Amino acid sequence: MPPIPDYASITTGIIDSHAHLLKEYFADEQFEMIERAFASNVRQIVNPGINATSLDELFEIADKYEHIYLGVGVHPHEANTWSQSVEDKLKSSLAHKKVVAVGECGLDFFYNHSTREEQIHALRRQIELSLEFGKPLIIHCRDAWADIDTIFSDYKGKLKGVFHCYTGDLNVLKNLAQFDFYISFSGIVTFPNAKPIQEAARHVDIERLLVETDCPYLAPQAVRGQRNEPSYVWYVAEKLAELRQTSIDQIAAACTANARTLFKLPELAR
Ligand SMILES: [Zn+2]
Ligand SMILES: [Zn+2]
Repeated sequence: MPPIPDYASITTGIIDSHAHLLKEYFADEQFEMIERAFASNVRQIVNPGINATSLDELFEIADKYEHIYLGVGVHPHEANTWSQSVEDKLKSSLAHKKVVAVGECGLDFFYNHSTREEQIHALRRQIELSLEFGKPLIIHCRDAWADIDTIFSDYKGKLKGVFHCYTGDLNVLKNLAQFDFYISFSGIVTFPNAKPIQEAARHVDIERLLVETDCPYLAPQAVRGQRNEPSYVWYVAEKLAELRQTSIDQIAAACTANARTLFKLPELAR
């Protein structure tokens, strides 16, 4: 285990806005991993949904940990599992108070684990759920910005959410400014070859900025190749502070406030 950066003195703490915490990734270390996150001054965590079958475990985790919330959704890789019964299961879960978002959902034309048509259908259904339940969208988008643009334009001015694990460049970012969305950066922004993403990270409006790990994948450069976990979100914040020539305190304060606004998370006493 490499040492986790010590940012215990930062009064706002930080929020990992996107961390997959399922047992299948962490096995018998799941509890220790969550404890390490809170010990490292991560205050709240959003654990997004990926499919209907793992939903029960997401609720178990959220029941056990007051400061862990969940999203309910089907990942674009799993869009081929979409069915009426999946939609009904999502629907029956969405009103729960610890469910803070619909997602993650979206389009991934890089891996194409589900067909383009399956992905678009599942995304459109989840957009409808987001509108019906008044909960923001967690959007996963890889190599599909033009399609996101087309689909979103059918719902002009109505959608809210976050583009998680942002991998677009500055031009894409400028186009996304038309939407009421946040932009969340993961460990990818710390990779030396991620210059276009870093350029975008310099320009995101501070009031739209979020940080995440997207663990267990995409560990930041300092711990690259290892299993990622929420305590490593500090490495992402460090990089954003460096890129934007500001302090990590400011990045942490902004990202914490932004995550609470988007997901309607409670303020916490220190
Ligand atoms: Zn994703
Ligand atoms: Zn994810």
